[in-house]
Amino acid sequence: MAVKIAVLKETRANEKRVALVPAVADKLSKLGAEIHMQAGAGDAVKLPDSAFKNVKFSADPIELVRDADVVASVQPPDASIVNAMKPGAILISFIYAHKEVELTRLLRDRHITTFAMELVPRITRAQAMDALSSQAALSGYYAALLGATHLARILPMMTTAVGSIRPARTLVMGLGVAGLQALATARRLGAMTEGYDVRPETKEQAESLGAKFVDTGVDARGAGGYARELTPEEKDKIAGVVTKHIQQADIIITTAAIPGRPSPKLISKAQVDGMKAGSVIIDLAAEGGGNCEYTQPGETIQVGQVTIVGPLNVPSMLGEHASELYAKNQLNLIELFVKEGGIRLDWTDEVIAKTALTHDGKIVNEAAQKIIGA
Ligand code: NAD
Repeated sequence: MAVKIAVLKETRANEKRVALVPAVADKLSKLGAEIHMQAGAGDAVKLPDSAFKNVKFSADPIELVRDADVVASVQPPDASIVNAMKPGAILISFIYAHKEVELTRLLRDRHITTFAMELVPRITRAQAMDALSSQAALSGYYAALLGATHLARILPMMTTAVGSIRPARTLVMGLGVAGLQALATARRLGAMTEGYDVRPETKEQAESLGAKFVDTGVDARGAGGYARELTPEEKDKIAGVVTKHIQQADIIITTAAIPGRPSPKLISKAQVDGMKAGSVIIDLAAEGGGNCEYTQPGETIQVGQVTIVGPLNVPSMLGEHASELYAKNQLNLIELFVKEGGIRLDWTDEVIAKTALTHDGKIVNEAAQKIIGA
């Protein structure tokens, strides 16, 4: 029997993305899989059911997943879906076990093999499966646009009959995937760009995008290519250098994150109070509490003459491309285990082993085990 893949319609608030797009459905069919989808799953990104060929639609998600071998979604599914899945079936979705403790226990107890998209290892071979990167790149791009539209100024230099307008200054704090994309986009819009990070290797990356690197002299490289938390002394040292740049900026885009920790605070209330009138902060770390002490996740607020935007689920705002990239990330992962018309999980494959959250009645990810127990 062909492998049955079922794709859910997202139900969480503000989630427009869908885990399958027509081009990927065709590729999955070529793998010999039978594709089923919840009716209307692509509606929010203007992908009507009629756009999908070789896909069977069903209105009832419970019926959809009951005999599915693989269930795919963007956000973690409801408990009712997990309860309806057959033991041994595979779920592929973002999970974030530390925020979904009950669901993770249920996935374990229902003997579901869960591949959590946020756990895909950041190694070269897995780049095509790395949904954190694909979605972060889109967020970084959109942050620059949000900055531009919240500013009552233009970004490029402009020479007019009544004089010249100086380019806007954009400072990007945190130069991972999103931050570098934000720098590139702000520069394309004509802004003068500056970037700052605690990983020194980002200097060259920022400069290659035409930005100036704000060098604080702090090296906080942590494990696995990520940053570590800063000591109070390091924070003071950074503030001594960065405050001037914060206060000269028209747009600040913050993207800093430390895996498994709340967002580090990079901009204090006092620093905001000294910012230029009319300037804007786009805090892409709002989901984790924000990089600015004033940020209110999901809100746009005014603090004096400064606008602070704390957008949530930015990739969903670009749902069409976010879905396309996410679906391709999932396809590349599925291709690792749907082979010759059947499912073959190779646990010696680093990508399979590290992306797994639950398998065979156990939580198999070490970090999740620490929080939830095995
Ligand atoms: P992230 O979302 O975890 O963090 C964003 C940025 O915030 C990082 O650059 C981090 O250094 C920075 N940061 C943390 N604390 C800070 C502070 N106090 N001040 C300023 N900046 C701070 O990062 P990400 O975009 O997911 O990428 C993290 C790393 O993983 C990068 O080194 C990236 O190149 C690497 N990566 C590798 C691959 C791969 O090889 N397949 C794929 C994606 C990312």
